[in-house]
Amino acid sequence: MNEFENEYEERIMSREFIRDDGDIELSLRPRVFEDYIGQEKVKENLKIYIQAAISRGESLDHVLLYGPPGLGKTTLAGIIANEMNVNLRVTSGPAIEKQGDLAALLTNLNEGDVLFVDEIHRLHRSVEEVLYPAMEDNALDIIIGKGPSARSIRLDLPKFTLVGATTRAGQLSAPLRDRFGVVMRLELYTPEELSRIVIRSAGILGIEIDREGALQIASCSRGTPRIANRILKRARDFAQIVGNGVITKESASLTLNRMEIDELGLDATDRRLLTAIIKSYNGGPVGLETISAAIGEEAITIEDVYEPYLMQIGFLGRTPRGRIATPAAYEHLGIEHQIK
Ligand code: ADP
Repeated sequence: MNEFENEYEERIMSREFIRDDGDIELSLRPRVFEDYIGQEKVKENLKIYIQAAISRGESLDHVLLYGPPGLGKTTLAGIIANEMNVNLRVTSGPAIEKQGDLAALLTNLNEGDVLFVDEIHRLHRSVEEVLYPAMEDNALDIIIGKGPSARSIRLDLPKFTLVGATTRAGQLSAPLRDRFGVVMRLELYTPEELSRIVIRSAGILGIEIDREGALQIASCSRGTPRIANRILKRARDFAQIVGNGVITKESASLTLNRMEIDELGLDATDRRLLTAIIKSYNGGPVGLETISAAIGEEAITIEDVYEPYLMQIGFLGRTPRGRIATPAAYEHLGIEHQIK
């Protein structure tokens, strides 16, 4: 690899399969389907598509995974690569700035590799256009020269599987979305599934935890494994320093309390969001941008990170005229609901 390619590697590819997770998270990531808890429908179907592709000696069709952050999209891309026995290359939409960046990435792939593009909805349009022939015909069209003498040549690429991840499939341009043969939605996890994830993670981290402790963490993790693992690590700190080293219901509750996470998993921002709708806008409807300005969080973060769970537990509704807080939200926050 020359210096030029090295620079590409540094900037575009995450060199390890870790992103923001740190070393410990790396070991927590399931590597095979058996360890990937929940998402049964997605798993069942993917297993069949993978088996079929392997028995035909082909690469897997391109896969689009969508759902809120922290639900296991990157993990699933790793499992796909593992099951197909190929390499995984990880990058993200915003990291690929120019057509040349993507061209460099694609030409460096080996036959059958999985290319994981996180936040694929954030790819530049011009970069996306390079992806179309690559996904469809395993070809790269390059323009050589400028002006009237410019001509296009077509390079063959190795066969590869693109696994794209996005928080919402609707954010993707239609031509890109149409080129994925498999489109799958990841759902929020149930507390039961999350508590299995917590127990598995505790085992890997060498932490003792009882069933109630695991369930307590699970039911406050907003349906999201990444959050469950994060709380588990803090609970370990509290159990070690303040408790007897075992995570129980009590030490888990203490941790959640200190992290300002309430018994339904709402954190300070969730509560600020609901309180703003209720107190400043009389329960809504109020537009997303207005909420965003009121609580100082980006609209996209509110939509992707906070709203899915608040809607799932029935605290927030979306109407054509904006967001509304439901009676259940009033009750949870202890604010009297005045019938309008
Ligand atoms: P996303 O790419 O959707 O943001 P990740 O794949 O990075 O989410 O998952 C976040 C973390 O949650 C991972 O490091 C992994 O440890 C854990 N995780 C996610 N899904 C599962 C699962 N189904 N079973 C066990 N652990 C999971």
